[in-house]
Amino acid sequence: MTQQKKIILELVKGTKAHPTADWIYEESRKQLPKISLGTVYRVLNELSESGLIKGLNLGNQKHFDGFTAPHSHVICRSCGKIEDVVLESDSGLQTTIQNLTNYTISEQNYEFYGLCPICQNK
Ligand SMILES: [Zn+2]
Ligand SMILES: [Zn+2]
Repeated sequence: MTQQKKIILELVKGTKAHPTADWIYEESRKQLPKISLGTVYRVLNELSESGLIKGLNLGNQKHFDGFTAPHSHVICRSCGKIEDVVLESDSGLQTTIQNLTNYTISEQNYEFYGLCPICQNK
C-alpha cells in the first residue's frame, strides 16, 4: 500500500462524519501537500473496491464511510450530518421483503431523513 493510500485510509477510518472527497482532499493535503484531487478520487475508489471503506451515495453527494459492517444511516435535513444506526438484522421488515420478492436478504441498509437534536432546538 502506498503512503498516500495509507494516509487517506486513516483519515476515513478516523472520522465518523462520513466525509466527502473534498473534505478528505483538504485533510490529506496537511500531510501530503502535493496530492491532487484526482489522486484522492482514485485512491478512494480503490479503497472502496477493495472493501476497506464504503462509498455512499447520499443526497447528491458521494460520501465515504470507514465503518464497513452493514449499517443504516440517519441524515439531518438541516445541517447535513450523517450518523450510523446499527439495526437488528432479523427485523420483521427483512422477512416481509423476502416474502414479497423471494430473495434471500443478507444485508439491509436504510437511510432515514429528519432533524437532528441540535437542529430541532434551533
Ligand atoms: Zn442537524
Ligand atoms: Zn456509516
